[in-house]
Amino acid sequence: MLNIVLFGPPGAGKGTQAKFLIKNFGLIHISTGDLLRNEISQKTEPGIKAKVLMDKGDLVPDEVVEGMIKNQLTAHSDAKGFIFDGFPRTVAQAKVLDELLKGINSAITAMVALEVKKQELIIRLLNRGKSSGRADDQNESTIENRIAVYNKKTAPLKDYYDAQKKYYGIYGMGTIEEISGRINDTLKKLV
Ligand code: AMP
Repeated sequence: MLNIVLFGPPGAGKGTQAKFLIKNFGLIHISTGDLLRNEISQKTEPGIKAKVLMDKGDLVPDEVVEGMIKNQLTAHSDAKGFIFDGFPRTVAQAKVLDELLKGINSAITAMVALEVKKQELIIRLLNRGKSSGRADDQNESTIENRIAVYNKKTAPLKDYYDAQKKYYGIYGMGTIEEISGRINDTLKKLV
């Protein structure tokens, strides 16, 4: 299996690049943000609870997203591999993911990290907010909080995967095609 953690701060272009990876490598895309927004739109209890945290730019509890990942792995047991987008976001989540993959005789192949400057992230997110309708994309102080949460809780994952020689940094500035070209070049060496 080819299992990729697509990594980077909010607004780095993970969702956009995931679309190319689905097409080029035939992987199943799992975005915990999308799964949570789906729960919100269906007004489920976990969705209602998560919305309060998401609107502030805070993380939802590990157990909530870990349960979602478990369900997705079970639902796609015949997959060639997965793209994890927005997950893991904490070291605890990364450890649970390792265990879940071990349970299906698999493992993370690589973390592909999109590297983008903070000023560019804010511009991209505010722009996306005009069409996405996402509350967390529309307010600059919420965006600042999301980036601060990323730096504090998520950025340490770089060391977690680097220690396993699985970290691949990708320059995330330029056109969408330039960036997907860089990701493809990196992944082709791994398959
Ligand atoms: P995203 O669509 O990945 O930007 O995620 C939007 C929001 O969903 C985040 O700001 C968090 O509140 C929540 N979220 C998504 N994925 C996770 C995760 N792996 N752990 C905790 N919270 C998450």
